[in-house]
Amino acid sequence: MAQIRIESVRKDFGSFNAVKSSTFTIEDGEFFMLLGPSGCGKTTTLRMMAGLELPTSGEIYIDGEEVSQKPASQRDIAFVFQMFALYPHMNVGKNISYPLLCQGMPKAQVRKKVGEIAEILGITDILKKPVGGLSGGDRQRVALGRAIVRDPKAFFMDEPLGALDAEFREHMSEELRNLHDRMNATTVYVTHDQLEAMQMGDKIVVMNHGSVEQFGVPQEIYDWPATKFVAQFIGSPCMNFLDFKGKVAGGQASVQLDDVVLNMPELLDGASGDLTFGVRPEHVHLDDAAPYRGKVVATEYLGTTQIITLDTPNGQIKAREASLKNVAVGEQIGLRFDARTVTIFDASTGRALR
Ligand code: ATP
Repeated sequence: MAQIRIESVRKDFGSFNAVKSSTFTIEDGEFFMLLGPSGCGKTTTLRMMAGLELPTSGEIYIDGEEVSQKPASQRDIAFVFQMFALYPHMNVGKNISYPLLCQGMPKAQVRKKVGEIAEILGITDILKKPVGGLSGGDRQRVALGRAIVRDPKAFFMDEPLGALDAEFREHMSEELRNLHDRMNATTVYVTHDQLEAMQMGDKIVVMNHGSVEQFGVPQEIYDWPATKFVAQFIGSPCMNFLDFKGKVAGGQASVQLDDVVLNMPELLDGASGDLTFGVRPEHVHLDDAAPYRGKVVATEYLGTTQIITLDTPNGQIKAREASLKNVAVGEQIGLRFDARTVTIFDASTGRALR
């Protein structure tokens, strides 16, 4: 188990800056997600932590020891790749035991260890089978077995479930999380899937264009996005954004949307200029008594929820209702917002005002 700290880590490939100065700490035993769109630098960040790529500048510490320039082989970690490459000519047991045999562990000890790992992963009955005919899930389990058998300090996983279909993916993600909880080893996991990150992670780093946008527990990132990018990337449908020229006065803070003033107690100290009002669809309440109004342009019934799209004077907005509302396209409806669920962003920087 290990604490991993990266400090002002940067990576350039020639003249291209793939990872801008990044700093965060992964605590011992955490299931930690590196989340962001394709090309944002999450794989490069993971590879630098694992020692498969050396940083251009900055430091990486594992359990307080600086390892920035050390190769992977000296970091006592295990990497689980997306295309879990197994040795095709070996059976399941041999695939799992191979790293231990390479280390020179005595055969009797290897057999005991492989038996324990197979038990944890529920693959005892296939130990003698060739890997060629295995299902995707069993191949994944064997790959995990090979990674965990050495008792590494930390696991690094790069979209390990990316190749699986949706249903199976969900099943394996639960299995992975359970395995983590049983072993309690630090796990760093790369994904572009926000739902996977929210479901599995103890903490999440959201990256965009090589920069860390936000770092925190899933609920914090969902409820208090630090930037518009995070608010957009997490949640489906994503947060609504209404642009307004604002004055958010300090003390008795209020937001003026169109000609309606919404009281926002305890919201902000004060801000002005081009602002963006951010509210998640589940926090848009349909309320005929509310002065701020929108016109229904579409309704979608999704079984457990209903999404209602409305045009407002400040732009389009989606409301998520838990129960079926009888609303018709073209209807004007009042919209009520609870100040505690609203985030105001500086429109030019995209940063949340707190
Ligand atoms: P994906 O999910 O698509 O893998 P990512 O967020 O993991 O994306 P990285 O693989 O870290 O992103 O890549 C970040 C940027 O660095 C990309 O623009 C990529 O093309 C570039 N890059 C990555 N590795 C190299 C390399 N060895 N040489 C040059 N550019 C690279």
